[in-house]
Amino acid sequence: MATYDEWLDAYSAAYDAPPGPLPDACPNCGHHSLRLVFTGDLDRLIGYAHFWCDNCLNGIGISRTTIPDDAVVQDIHVPREAREPKIPNYTLVQ
Ligand SMILES: [Zn+2]
Repeated sequence: MATYDEWLDAYSAAYDAPPGPLPDACPNCGHHSLRLVFTGDLDRLIGYAHFWCDNCLNGIGISRTTIPDDAVVQDIHVPREAREPKIPNYTLVQ
C-alpha cells in the first residue's frame, strides 16, 4: 500500500495541474486514473479536496484548502446527493 506521504506528493502534482490530465500515476496501483475534485464555495474558492484513484479506489482527503483556478469543483451549496461530478466511496489512506 502507498503511504500517506506518497499520496500527498501525487496530490501536490495534481494540485498544480488543473483541470488535468493529472501528471502522476496512482502511487498505489500505478494506473493513470487519479481524480481530483474539490467541494467548496464557488465564490470564495475555499473548500476541501477529494483525491483518489478510479482504479483501486484508494485516496486521501484534504480538509481545507484554496481551490486552484480551473479545478473541478462541486458546489457545497447543492445537496450532497445532487453534487456533480460524483465521487465514489474510496478508502481513505491515513
Ligand atoms: Zn490506484
